[in-house]
Amino acid sequence: MTEDKPGWREMPEGAISYKCTLDYETGDWGVEYPEIDYERCSKCMLCHFYCPEGAVRVRSDGYTEIDRRYCKGCGICVEECPVKCMKMVRKV
Ligand code: SF4
Ligand code: SF4
Repeated sequence: MTEDKPGWREMPEGAISYKCTLDYETGDWGVEYPEIDYERCSKCMLCHFYCPEGAVRVRSDGYTEIDRRYCKGCGICVEECPVKCMKMVRKV
């Protein structure tokens, strides 16, 4: 028997966008987290959109910042940053 679930075309716009893990603090999973060089950041917000944990917040000044309670250290944001102004550093 097949379940009668909606496909992605039937889902409301934006419904697949966020983040199912804000209830779980995944910040202690990894040994590194990203640092941002704000001198070079272009405020593109791609790090915010690519982060699978919702750990990259957008500040009122347009820059992003890392919420270490949720950052699991995967490095996706660093990989996707178009101006390469992020780097992974070890947690202390
Ligand atoms: S390292 Fe991974 S979890 Fe941490 S802020 Fe970047 S994309 Fe999100
Ligand atoms: S992806 Fe890089 S340039 Fe874009 S907002 Fe994040 S840190 Fe800044």
